[in-house]
Amino acid sequence: MELKSCRVLVTATSFGKNDPSLITYLESQVGEAIYNRTGKPLTPVQLAELLPGVDGFIAGLDSISALALQTADRLKVISRYGVGVDNVDLEYACSKKIIVTNTPGANSVSVAELAVGLILSLIRQIPQAIEATRSGGWPRVNGITLEGKTVGIIGFGSIGRQLARRLAGFDCRLLAYDPYPDLSFAEKVGVTMLSLDDLLSQSNIISLHLPLSPSTLGLVNEAFLAKTRPGAMLVNTDRGEIIDENALYTAVKTGRLAGAALDVFCQQPPDPTNPILSLPNVLVTPHMGAHTDGATNSMGWMSLSDCLAVLRGEDPKYRVS
Ligand code: NAD
Repeated sequence: MELKSCRVLVTATSFGKNDPSLITYLESQVGEAIYNRTGKPLTPVQLAELLPGVDGFIAGLDSISALALQTADRLKVISRYGVGVDNVDLEYACSKKIIVTNTPGANSVSVAELAVGLILSLIRQIPQAIEATRSGGWPRVNGITLEGKTVGIIGFGSIGRQLARRLAGFDCRLLAYDPYPDLSFAEKVGVTMLSLDDLLSQSNIISLHLPLSPSTLGLVNEAFLAKTRPGAMLVNTDRGEIIDENALYTAVKTGRLAGAALDVFCQQPPDPTNPILSLPNVLVTPHMGAHTDGATNSMGWMSLSDCLAVLRGEDPKYRVS
């Protein structure tokens, strides 16, 4: 296909924000580029309005359901700007012969660094200490060290492995669970792979890094939390739906968990009346794991390159389906 006759829709709101040459390059290659100016992921109805006549789609966290794709009459590729593809109806896209790609590893370091930040914030109560000092207080804030503690990583893929590499310098014990473990990497970094139940019963801090799928939806429920070590802390920089938020609320409220840090929620942004937001030992951030210069540039170039490859009739590098 002649690229100059192609129209590309970009809904990823940070595309080109750090590196404007992404936009210059895209516009030099294709006939027309359309951007999402709302600053937010788009709904199926908004997408259905934009997709007629679009050949390539560089997609953010929009709801790319069958309803959204029904009007896609020329679409060849959905190039996810990110790793998760749980927001895309893959079966329906496949039935319409639309190729789906993603950007594995592009934001792994950034998410892993945020997870380290949240772990340190939890164990040293850094946000609470800042807030108290700023408002005239001078409290004695007693924390715990990472040194000598046990951190359990659930999902030992790209992000989980980057987290382990970073935590290795803290002299803590590292555990991980993954149904497809990378044993040689684990051995190199000093991570012990074990069963999920053993990880839960031994970890002081648990960090989630597994994909959202029908089998992991609500994985962190009452039964899961009952297996954790009393007083453990949970960090979720993964997907909100992996956690049953009611069960988490009860676990923190009753002290079963000493605290939690959440970058993601079932509903984003969370409803202000969500009781989880009222718990002082739950730290919350606005799904910002991948929002760094390094991640946005890598996601931008990887998603653009695969989108253009498909439109040229070539094989994309990171095909999901
Ligand atoms: P990845 O595919 O490299 O790794 C996921 C790992 O999870 C794989 O090794 C897989 O075998 C393992 N896994 C699958 N099912 C599992 C289960 N039931 N229990 C334990 N492990 C299981 O993906 P990644 O790049 O490491 O990303 C992980 C997730 O992080 C993504 O799916 C996405 O939801 C989330 N994410 C969040 C942000 C953010 O901004 N907060 C950014 C990027 C990714």
